Amino acid sequence: MSGHYGLLRMLREQGHRLTPQREMVILALHEADGHLSAEGVYERVQRQNPYVDVSTVYRTLELLREMGIVSQCQVNGHQALFELTMRSPHHHLVCRNCKTMLDIASGDLDDLKTLLLERYHFKADLGHLVLEGLCSRCASQWAPGSEALALEGDTKSNYAEGEAHAHP
Ligand SMILES: [Zn+2]
Ligand SMILES: [Zn+2]
Repeated sequence: MSGHYGLLRMLREQGHRLTPQREMVILALHEADGHLSAEGVYERVQRQNPYVDVSTVYRTLELLREMGIVSQCQVNGHQALFELTMRSPHHHLVCRNCKTMLDIASGDLDDLKTLLLERYHFKADLGHLVLEGLCSRCASQWAPGSEALALEGDTKSNYAEGEAHAHP
């Protein structure tokens, strides 16, 4: 619990004005210790205060995003996910078949940064990346022939995505 107060105190010391709604949304994300959809935030906030409506949660998330407290990541064909920006830097691997999301440490892409700098003299700001691909489980179920098809350009992969949605 003291972690909560420390977090809120830190934000106030940074000059952020925190209303009770903002506090509730921040604490919901803090407790989840990861990413939540807007509905996920709403569910958690409701457990604390059943009188908060969903539009307040959406508005508050948007405001916190503008304040730099919350970041949003959008995965293709998936609802937007929110998290606290002060979480340790990380990137995401998202399976385009089953939509499983894995967090990886941002340091894992240091080699890529070095390569871009050395070969292209480009100082990449990788920020909060979302890389799509296949998780180990889906990759092992994927027949070699169909994988070749799915990787063949945009139209085909869109088609494959539509298909994945049809049978969750
Ligand atoms: Zn993230
Ligand atoms: Zn998968």
